[in-house]
Amino acid sequence: MPIVLILFLVTACAPVAWPEPVSLFRPLGGTLALGCLLSLALVRFLLVSSRTLRVIRGPIFVPGALSSYGRVRRRSMTMLMLMFTVGLVPGGWGWTVQNALAPGSAVLPPGAELLVIAPFFAAVVASWLIFYPVEREVHHAPPLVAYLLYQFRQQIALALLPLCLVVGQQSVVRWWPEIVEQSWFQWASTGSVVVFLIVAPWLLRGLLGWRPLPAGPLRDHLMASARRLRLRFSDLMLWPTHGVVANAMVAGLLPRPRYIMMTDRLLHDLPPDELEAVLGHEIGHVRHRHMLLYFAFLGLSFAIMTGLLNMFVRILPADSWLMDALRGLGDWGTLASFAVAAVYILFAFGFISRRCEREADLFGCRAVSCGRPDCQGHTYRDRVPVVTTSTPLCPTAIETFAAALDRVADSNGMSRAKPGWMASWQHSTIEKRVAYLRAIKDNPAIERRFRRRMLAFKVLLFATLIGIVLLLAWTGDLAGGM
Ligand SMILES: [Zn+2]
Ligand SMILES: [Zn+2]
Repeated sequence: MPIVLILFLVTACAPVAWPEPVSLFRPLGGTLALGCLLSLALVRFLLVSSRTLRVIRGPIFVPGALSSYGRVRRRSMTMLMLMFTVGLVPGGWGWTVQNALAPGSAVLPPGAELLVIAPFFAAVVASWLIFYPVEREVHHAPPLVAYLLYQFRQQIALALLPLCLVVGQQSVVRWWPEIVEQSWFQWASTGSVVVFLIVAPWLLRGLLGWRPLPAGPLRDHLMASARRLRLRFSDLMLWPTHGVVANAMVAGLLPRPRYIMMTDRLLHDLPPDELEAVLGHEIGHVRHRHMLLYFAFLGLSFAIMTGLLNMFVRILPADSWLMDALRGLGDWGTLASFAVAAVYILFAFGFISRRCEREADLFGCRAVSCGRPDCQGHTYRDRVPVVTTSTPLCPTAIETFAAALDRVADSNGMSRAKPGWMASWQHSTIEKRVAYLRAIKDNPAIERRFRRRMLAFKVLLFATLIGIVLLLAWTGDLAGGM
């Protein structure tokens, strides 16, 4: 979810002159058009929320009422993004803000982008307030202020960091265009992104309210397995979610700062051996260097997209019809390139991410494996003392990991087969993940084949990306902005 929201917000903050409202929305004007569109979504949430309240407070149990509420609630952010996009571009909201802040050809004030996206955040907060009565009744949500803070941390906080970075960079470009040309500034911007990625775990800890997992047998047990799995990290963290979310996460490019985070619900619902399997999955991401892989992939992809665009503009004759058409598009062309980049990231990144998640799943199994393919059940003592990325799986370990996945789906009230696209584009569905692991239990050759293919996939992917970057550097198209 954060990645989709980040792509959406960064596109909405794109450095373009937004088009005037299209004729359909012109009578309303940008502000009113956006207001109507967002209200339309909010009224729908209000209707669903009050109907659900009536049902749960009423005398008769109506099956399905909660599941349709849950569906609308889960999709509420997507719905607001959709409505906001219509209001921003054809509705003329972006144009209205830019005209008010910088009439004529004046330069937009620093941070003007934040005013453009402010109504979206307002609508998101309004949606939380609308859902609050049901959340309190059904999910025992905490008092209002704590609930709002939790929603902010859960849904928006992660997207704000990269957003501020982008808006800050664009403000500098607008106001001091001369320093942007200088190489020290370009080095400093790249450096600040790297520093940002390195210190991100500290920012996450503060923003999301993580705290060290309290001392006790559970902490000792998990710390011992982290050591057995050869993980170098700062600390094991607890994320209090008022018992709503069962999830775990690893954050940190370098060994320090690096945190492994587990939510209160996960720690409450899963027995120690399954928690260890989940810990194994997270450590698997580190041992297989997935963070580095993701950032290298994104960085190379952006370099290639910029380079190809430069090459395209250079090769095309200046008077060709295609060039004329592109010039005619103006800022629509810039927006289209943002949209193409976003779709590419969603699909390519989703494709890579699902494979890496499978690799992490297998490492989660290795973490609790005894290493004997014919195992009929084992105890904690039988587990392999040192886990590597090729430790053999055992049937008991596979069942432990599958049970953990199953319980996570239950705890989150998630469908195993159809959790919705938002919940499955990065991870695949729980049903498919479990089916894959059970297939390995029946035929261990599948796992060996996966390892071979994964290696070939990584080598091929980076050889291709680096090859294209070198080619673009050789033709001189790599430098320059989009
Ligand atoms: Zn994962
Ligand atoms: Zn075993």
